[in-house]
Amino acid sequence: MTSIETGEFKKLLEAERARLHDAVDFLAKENAVSVEDEELGGRGVDSHMADMATATYDRELDEGLEEGAQTTLDEIEAALGRIEDGSYGVCEVCGKPIGAERLSAIPWARLCIDDQRRLR
Ligand SMILES: [Zn+2]
Repeated sequence: MTSIETGEFKKLLEAERARLHDAVDFLAKENAVSVEDEELGGRGVDSHMADMATATYDRELDEGLEEGAQTTLDEIEAALGRIEDGSYGVCEVCGKPIGAERLSAIPWARLCIDDQRRLR
């Protein structure tokens, strides 16, 4: 067994999960009628926050986020489950270690780079 530092990857996964949850929540609220905004009207800080959130939303929408975010969230949940059961960081196809460098870039990766390429 290779001993990768799963604690670090767990933190990365949890941070990314929180970020994506916010993005998904925001998309859901964006689709609802924003009565709340009108009732709060005139609070400078809140509208500034909303502008920042909108900028993030617009940027990520370009990448087709809404579906992608949910898919990635599922992958993150699965990866956190693999950390719990001790199979994290092992390629599901060949059983070799995925490699810390690849996991740093994509903490929820389930295939080593060779098998990932073979799928394409
Ligand atoms: Zn592999």
